[in-house]
Amino acid sequence: MASFSNPPRSSHRLFRPPAEGDSLILRVADGCPHNACAFCAMYKGVPYRVLTPPEMAREVAQAQAEWPEAGRIFLADGDVMALPFATLCGLLDELNARFPRLARIGTYANGSSILAKSEAELRALRERKLHTLYLGLESGDDATLQRMHKAETATGMTDAVRRAQACGLRLSVMILIGVAGREQSAVHATATATVLNRMQPRLLSALRCVPIPGTALHAEIAAGRFQPLTEHEAVAELRAVLAGLELAGTVFRANHASNSVPLEGRLPKDRDMLLAGLDLLLASNALDRRTSGPVPWSL
Ligand code: SF4
Repeated sequence: MASFSNPPRSSHRLFRPPAEGDSLILRVADGCPHNACAFCAMYKGVPYRVLTPPEMAREVAQAQAEWPEAGRIFLADGDVMALPFATLCGLLDELNARFPRLARIGTYANGSSILAKSEAELRALRERKLHTLYLGLESGDDATLQRMHKAETATGMTDAVRRAQACGLRLSVMILIGVAGREQSAVHATATATVLNRMQPRLLSALRCVPIPGTALHAEIAAGRFQPLTEHEAVAELRAVLAGLELAGTVFRANHASNSVPLEGRLPKDRDMLLAGLDLLLASNALDRRTSGPVPWSL
């Protein structure tokens, strides 16, 4: 991975999806315009700000000088899709002009930022090599989304994914295992599978919700108002989501550091094999049935 930024303006931590590990990471905004999700610590304390046009031009020029042969670019920080259409268009035109080998551009997106663009605008962005949008559905259950202060609805995100995919964009959708707690786990699993079936995303990642100190979710757990899943319950919830999926052609991954066991496959082809593996794991003594299990150090 290569990243370009001009400290001290961009000294906060840089995030990108695992699949963008070989991409040039270009920071065109600081932080996330929402920055309120109860489980998220990514941009805590980072005031949201889009770079000014001269700053953006300087970042692009610096990136070109250091990696002129870049074929893939990921735009950071959070929800770059929220930038105005004209700003995005100008940026993508500049990237296409400066990087002759550029094949694809990716970024994080929220449902509302996709729906704020018309179909014609989404197609225009696709023509400028915008390729993959990474969207955090987290849950298909609206009550869970509200409790987590997500500011998106399951219906809105479904419409956004369907619209973007109809315009040629590729959607990588992330869900959070355990985000509904013990009480809502079954509802969350069923609703999430139902929404994913409507979305039919090309890529699906299941991450485990790990409470991070400093977040509202961590405080809720400390206060006893949110019951986190045990490691065994988290794998059972993942199994319940997987069992409810009816996807026609999706690459599925649950191999993030947060997951108890790394899983990867193509749906629907590998679904039964993945379910059988999870059943074996759930029947074994390998999973912690009393606590959430070990917390990955890298989160
Ligand atoms: S999960 Fe995404 S939308 Fe929510 S605060 Fe974090 S970066 Fe922003």
